[in-house]
Amino acid sequence: MSQQQGKNNKPQDLLAFLNQQRGEHNKREVTERVIDFKEIYVAKKSEELTVQASRCLDCGNPYCEWKCPLHNYIPNWLELVRNEQFSQAAELMHETNPLPEICGRVCPQDRLCEQACTLNTGFGAVTIGEIEKNISDRAIANKWRPNLSNIKQTDKTVAIIGAGPAGLGCAELLARNGVKPIVYDKYPEIGGLLTFGIPGFKLEKSIVQKRREFLQDIGVEFRLNTEVGKQISIEQIQQEHDAIFLAMGCYTSVTGNLPGADSVGVIKALDFLIANVNQQQDYQMKGYPYQSMQGKKVVVLGGGDTAMDCVRSAQRQQAEKVTCVYRRDRDSMPGSPQEVKNAIEEGVEFLFNRQPLSIENQQGKVSGVSLAETSIHETVGSNRKTFVIDEEAQHLLEADIVILAFGFKASPADWFTQAGITQKENGLVITQTSDDFDLPYSQQTESKGIFAGGDMVRGADLVVTAIAEGRQAAKEILDFLEV
Ligand code: FAD
Ligand code: SF4
Repeated sequence: MSQQQGKNNKPQDLLAFLNQQRGEHNKREVTERVIDFKEIYVAKKSEELTVQASRCLDCGNPYCEWKCPLHNYIPNWLELVRNEQFSQAAELMHETNPLPEICGRVCPQDRLCEQACTLNTGFGAVTIGEIEKNISDRAIANKWRPNLSNIKQTDKTVAIIGAGPAGLGCAELLARNGVKPIVYDKYPEIGGLLTFGIPGFKLEKSIVQKRREFLQDIGVEFRLNTEVGKQISIEQIQQEHDAIFLAMGCYTSVTGNLPGADSVGVIKALDFLIANVNQQQDYQMKGYPYQSMQGKKVVVLGGGDTAMDCVRSAQRQQAEKVTCVYRRDRDSMPGSPQEVKNAIEEGVEFLFNRQPLSIENQQGKVSGVSLAETSIHETVGSNRKTFVIDEEAQHLLEADIVILAFGFKASPADWFTQAGITQKENGLVITQTSDDFDLPYSQQTESKGIFAGGDMVRGADLVVTAIAEGRQAAKEILDFLEV
């Protein structure tokens, strides 16, 4: 046995990965899970976590850590888990990530840390996401809180507009540094798309609610049901706070301009998902009427994470048949392969290499989608495959409901210009990171003291990248306020 002394005195078997297979997620039975919106992955026992963590090679140059947008100290907390020092592991996770239990659930690890893991070369990557989720869940359940007794509180306050991952990432780091974050959000609960987008079978709403309690306990104040520009003006916010962080997301649905898209029964993906949350949580938000998919033929157009959330939600609403239509092949799908696998297990049908041409209707009601076959071509110098539509190979796919999941564009507020916040042609907010502007901070907008990050700057992206920009903005705001 090749052994090395672990940092916490438990000998490490560097060849453990040869004897111990990667342990895949324990999932609830398909028949049981497709009738509710509860999470599909079952918690793991301590012994399983320590065994899985012991597979880590503790690479001198940890690719997992580099690939993670938050540069989480992955090998270090894996070692703590291996040594059963679970609360220390949770504490270390929180040093770089304010929402580890959420990233453990929704990050596409198969495209990030686990893809980069040295063992992902035939041996099976370390189960980084699952360990992160299980360890941080325990810490939250045990009411773990960071020790802030040595933090000197300042008299500074920062307004954060948007309680999604970017806003929460910024708020947590400010609070940990003695600056009071006041987070405004137009929705009735925190989380942004974590609550009003990602369905419960990936992330139960109670997880976000527990995180709200944690954040309130460390001094973050939330002002919910408060839309900046309606219930409170940007001028008032500017007068009342020392700096502002904009974290408002990216909400204009791409519709694809398909003929027939105005037919009754065509729904935008996010409207469908928000209506579901609204109904399940009884938020009574206006503008999101619930439509049951029970007994209907549902066609979802698109191949990203949002499309996967829609197909799996429709399946849980007892649709007669759910079909996902995507214009490239399975390997080219932009979402997490794990989620595609889960959808297939749950009975969703996939039609790859199909381009929707129009939505057909009868007396104004959706009756189907006209599709053409496509062929895929590799393009030299690009890792995105191109496709060619074969207009001759057309067919009609019957549908009662069509859900459009083509992605999102920027949704700039009408008060941006008045506040001096500039945007690119596509509506994304300009910061130094997004362009070559000569600004003092990477997340600062062209308006002094106003910072921005997350989807509204990057375009629709990931939870973890939004958190990373929120934290970066917090560091820069602390410097700007000379704290
Ligand atoms: P958001 O999460 O969009 O939060 C913005 C917040 O700003 C919202 O709460 C909004 O109410 C608030 N707001 C906006 N304007 C105002 C205003 N004027 N006044 C007050 N409040 C305002 N990423 C992953 O990593 N994994 C996934 O599995 C995943 N699944 C997804 C599923 C769906 C259906 C969607 C749509 C996205 C998914 N994403 C996923 C992407 C991820 O959710 C986003 O990239 C991330 O939430 C962006 O964070 P954000 O803080 O920038 O914005
Ligand atoms: Fe461990 Fe994999 Fe990271 Fe190496 S790349 S430190 S094996 S988790």
